[in-house]
Amino acid sequence: MTGTLYLVATPIGNLEDITERALRVLKEVDLIACEDTRHTRVLLQHYGIKTKMLSYHEHNERERAAELSALLEAGASVAVVADAGTPGISDPGFRLVNDALKRGVRVVPVPGPTAFVAALIASGLPTDEFFFGGFLPARATQRRARLTKARALNSTLVFYEAPHRIAQTLADAREILGEREAAVARELTKLHEEIARGRLSELAKRFGSEEAARGEMVVVIDRNVISLEAAESDSEIDIVARVAALESEGLDHRAALKRAARELGLNRSEAYRRLVAAREQKKS
Ligand code: SAM
Repeated sequence: MTGTLYLVATPIGNLEDITERALRVLKEVDLIACEDTRHTRVLLQHYGIKTKMLSYHEHNERERAAELSALLEAGASVAVVADAGTPGISDPGFRLVNDALKRGVRVVPVPGPTAFVAALIASGLPTDEFFFGGFLPARATQRRARLTKARALNSTLVFYEAPHRIAQTLADAREILGEREAAVARELTKLHEEIARGRLSELAKRFGSEEAARGEMVVVIDRNVISLEAAESDSEIDIVARVAALESEGLDHRAALKRAARELGLNRSEAYRRLVAAREQKKS
């Protein structure tokens, strides 16, 4: 009989955010694989759980995944937890799940908190369709390339970001995606929880100081560019460039114009009028 691999979500700050089932599973399994045993010990001690722990993190993921899969194959039950939130979400987990499945081990999710969902639902931005991009790359060129790719998506965009990069990322997003409504959800479920809402340029300014940009944060960005009338400067959003970019991504002219119009909050005839006017202006 092979064992069972449980993927157990734990709090993202507030220790009360854990399900009864998660606590039972953590009590009953043979082993808890966790990112940082010191960190998880605080949670286990809080709930009087004495299960043995083993470290499983980014740097030993490969070896540990093989080791844990072998234990699971031999019949052990193992729970994987991250330092915070849901394992496998911008945290180790995927490799082990993959190995375990190949060996015929049962994989059971025990759902609970994850920062991007908490941020999204409280952002005030549409939740019907969204794209979660994990962490944006630390290097500027790669980060900007990722944002350029995200520009074509007609979904609310959600990213994890480090505090020392937040202002630059918001400024890059403003430049690449155009002015949009956004939210920065900081220190969710913790004492200094803050959900700052506003335009990308406003948030870039607000999080420009070290003081403001503290703690853990999630960036949520609207799918629509704020209409030209509402944007600070018409010239900042170039419909010609946007249509050209969409065409280079494979859309035909009609589809590109339709999409650009939607992104800019314009009806199609107004978008067309502006496209022609912008072209005339460029010629003269
Ligand atoms: N596995 C976690 C989850 O399910 O959300 C994500 C872990 S990832 C290594 C850590 C990042 O998640 C942080 O840098 C931040 O972007 C986000 N995060 C985690 N906890 C948060 C919180 N309480 N408030 C805001 N963002 C948080």
